[in-house]
Amino acid sequence: MSEGFEVSFTYELPVDSDGFLRRQCPTCGRDFKWHSGPANEEGELHPEATIYYCPLCGDSALKDQWFTPAQATFIQGHADAATMQRLDEELSGLFRGMNSKHLKVKQTGHLDVPELPDPLVETDDMVIVVSPCHSYEPVKVPENHPGPLHCLICGEAYAV
Ligand SMILES: [Zn+2]
Ligand SMILES: [Zn+2]
Repeated sequence: MSEGFEVSFTYELPVDSDGFLRRQCPTCGRDFKWHSGPANEEGELHPEATIYYCPLCGDSALKDQWFTPAQATFIQGHADAATMQRLDEELSGLFRGMNSKHLKVKQTGHLDVPELPDPLVETDDMVIVVSPCHSYEPVKVPENHPGPLHCLICGEAYAV
């Protein structure tokens, strides 16, 4: 292996037709959605948060803790494929490097690179709600959610 073995890959999570991305709370396990990127001009003026609050239970978690199981599996699938692809390239390079005047080495097989996962689809469910304190950051929550909601940005409870 050469030094600095790094695997980079890209993936795309779908948003619904209003631009909302499905999220799952690591604390209460319920789904909601936040807007992918700034939802409006005011949102563009604010730096991206590093911690978000669950609108349903009010608990907070770091920005990268909100993947649904389907999203996590999807991303892992991309990571696995990229890793195997990269390993296969490394191996090929290794075989080429072993060839010299005195030694002929031929690579006869390749690693099985897994297929990329099928793209995810996002349905147009849930209703848009806006917190009074941070109105530039709307969320979508399940219809008929009982009780107060919490602001995505500061966790403040509010009634709808
Ligand atoms: Zn929650
Ligand atoms: Zn707030």
